[in-house]
Amino acid sequence: EQNVNNIKQEYVKSFQSENKLLPFTWIVIRIDGSHFHRFSEVQGFEKPNDEHALKLMNSCAVAVLEEFNDIVFAYGVSDEYSFVLKRNTQLYQRRASEIVSATVSFFSSTYVMKWKEFFPKKELKYPPNFDGRAVCYPSYEIIRDYLAWRQVDCHINNQYNTCFWMLVKSGKSTREAQSLLKGTQTQEKNQMLSQLFGIDYNMLPVIFRNGSSVFWDKETTVMDDGVVVKSHKKAVVEHPNIIEDDFWEAHPLILE
Ligand code: ATP
Ligand code: ATP
Ligand code: MG
Ligand code: MG
Ligand code: MG
Repeated sequence: EQNVNNIKQEYVKSFQSENKLLPFTWIVIRIDGSHFHRFSEVQGFEKPNDEHALKLMNSCAVAVLEEFNDIVFAYGVSDEYSFVLKRNTQLYQRRASEIVSATVSFFSSTYVMKWKEFFPKKELKYPPNFDGRAVCYPSYEIIRDYLAWRQVDCHINNQYNTCFWMLVKSGKSTREAQSLLKGTQTQEKNQMLSQLFGIDYNMLPVIFRNGSSVFWDKETTVMDDGVVVKSHKKAVVEHPNIIEDDFWEAHPLILE
């Protein structure tokens, strides 16, 4: 009887595929809010950029880094966050479905837990959810290109959204605003912002223009009377340019 059970268990288990991510590559988990266009409307986010919502996302990302120690870097914009795991991570033996589901569920539950901290006067109307995916990037150049791609996307969307919402707030219908912006290049949008609305794009808050990066700061040592009492790493949030080399040259250990 016991034997029959064992055989059945093995047989049923054999249908599970392992789905292991390629060894010694940077694993990126990108999560993205599901239907956040609607969620941001229902929750009354400020347009185009609600700073409290961005800071809630950042706070959740910090919590994710603290929970999963193998994450070396995270980049977030709008309703998305990319988490980069160190190349040789053995988290869940590199099984994609477990890594993705653990990250995305931890992020979602943290988002709900921290909601009140960032929106003390706004009731959370329904449980938000995020989707997630895992992608492997095999070389330093390619992981840098991946991160640059996300930040370029941030610039493009932010510029479009800033123009769009300025037009709408000045009385244009959404359709009029869309058709005014159709086919415009970066420079035309910058001109539109400065000429029509007196806005210098480069003066907008850096969190909107550059998105947010989370990484482990150098060890901070807490001294008490000249004696080391505590030494710990801290996940910090900054808004650097991650397209150019400067940030990466200043932090060579992140993608070592
Ligand atoms: P999907 O389920 O396919 O991801 P989505 O509605 O979430 O659909 P996205 O392309 O992910 O679409 O875009 C996210 C949307 O969420 C943005 O277009 C914007 O309207 C809204 N949003 C996210 N974060 C903020 C924020 N901080 N402030 C204002 N709006 C935001
Ligand atoms: P893993 O992260 O590997 O899943 P785990 O601690 O969650 O580790 P499981 O094999 O999933 O281990 O077992 C879940 C454990 O959670 C049980 O062993 C039990 O201790 C506890 N648990 C779950 N649900 C209940 C419950 N309803 N009442 C009491 N204990 C529970
Ligand atoms: Mg999506
Ligand atoms: Mg989304
Ligand atoms: Mg998105």
